[in-house]
Amino acid sequence: MPTIGILGGGQLARMLALAGAPLGLRFLVVDSAADACAGQVAPLVQADWCDFDALAGFAQRIDVATFDFENVPADTARWLSERTRVFPNPRALATSQDRLAEKTLFQRIGLATPPFAVVDSRDDLQRAVAQVGLPAILKTRRLGYDGKGQYRLRLPGDVDAAWQALGGAPAILEAFVPFERELSVVAVRGRDGELRAYPLTRNWHTDGILSASLAPAPGSQALLPVALAHARRLAEELDYVGTFALELFVRDGQLLGNEMAPRVHNSGHWTIEGAAASQFENHVRAVCGLPLGDTAALGLSVMLNWIGELPPAQAVLAEPRAHWHDYGKSPRAGRKVGHATLRADSAPEMIERLTRVGRALGREAQVAPVIEALQADASA
Ligand code: AMP
Repeated sequence: MPTIGILGGGQLARMLALAGAPLGLRFLVVDSAADACAGQVAPLVQADWCDFDALAGFAQRIDVATFDFENVPADTARWLSERTRVFPNPRALATSQDRLAEKTLFQRIGLATPPFAVVDSRDDLQRAVAQVGLPAILKTRRLGYDGKGQYRLRLPGDVDAAWQALGGAPAILEAFVPFERELSVVAVRGRDGELRAYPLTRNWHTDGILSASLAPAPGSQALLPVALAHARRLAEELDYVGTFALELFVRDGQLLGNEMAPRVHNSGHWTIEGAAASQFENHVRAVCGLPLGDTAALGLSVMLNWIGELPPAQAVLAEPRAHWHDYGKSPRAGRKVGHATLRADSAPEMIERLTRVGRALGREAQVAPVIEALQADASA
């Protein structure tokens, strides 16, 4: 059975290894941290991204390489691709590492984006504010995720603070979009080019970090064919293999492209229990050239993210059809340490379950927007 090498040893690598084990797949994870949480479920090589001696040994022990982290240097991915198969390919990784390249690609495939301007200097930023307007968000072109490397500008006087906050790194200034909803499409493309997508997922973020997901997104399935067409064009353009996520804003009923994640994605965690085959299983199937699994949803799912520290598990475990995921990480502010997935056959059943869990954990604010969306759909 093949061994899959994973660059990055966080919770995504951990869930990939857990999903691949029943298929008889073996895993080898590389991470610079000795205590990377995937190391609890798969053998771990401790090395950093530029330790080519260690990576050469890693490449010899695996049949195919993939990522749990999109900020692995593209040069490392290219170097590795000269020694073993790498999916997704280094070009796809490089494109999604640069917000400018990513948004330019979105526009080329016909996916509208929020208005934006390139910012390489403080003067550029001044001009960009005049062009894009305020409020706006200054985002570093590289190394941004979970709201990191971003600064919100409300007033013209914010220019200096924004420029300093990002340390003068190449950036884009993006218009702030008063969106109605945030959606994502999680899809998987096989080595033979077959594409399968999960139903649209609705997402809520707090401080730029995903807080909750609801799937299938109520009232949004009419947008699925359009979202799917964008995802397909994107994947074909990049000759993508594996699972990826396309994050979208809905504004005036239209889709705007926010970003693409070249990997399994937090907004697809619900698929572990809420879909016939999970995003993790489908990713390992894709990179190994196996047939893709069914992406159909099994009823309704809500994923609640645990950020910073885990709440007590009991209240969730006591619920029927609730699933607990502890990533085995130590608590730290802003860190994703686990999630729970609640499943139900109907909106009223889900509302009941969310209300009970929210109250028991003192997390009413986290579940409230999800309950509201389910109620709004029921009364529509
Ligand atoms: P990002 O890292 O770019 O995905 O941003 C994280 C989150 O910040 C998004 O999921 C949105 O909730 C919010 N956000 C990012 N860009 C914008 C924007 N242009 N307008 C409004 N909200 C945004």
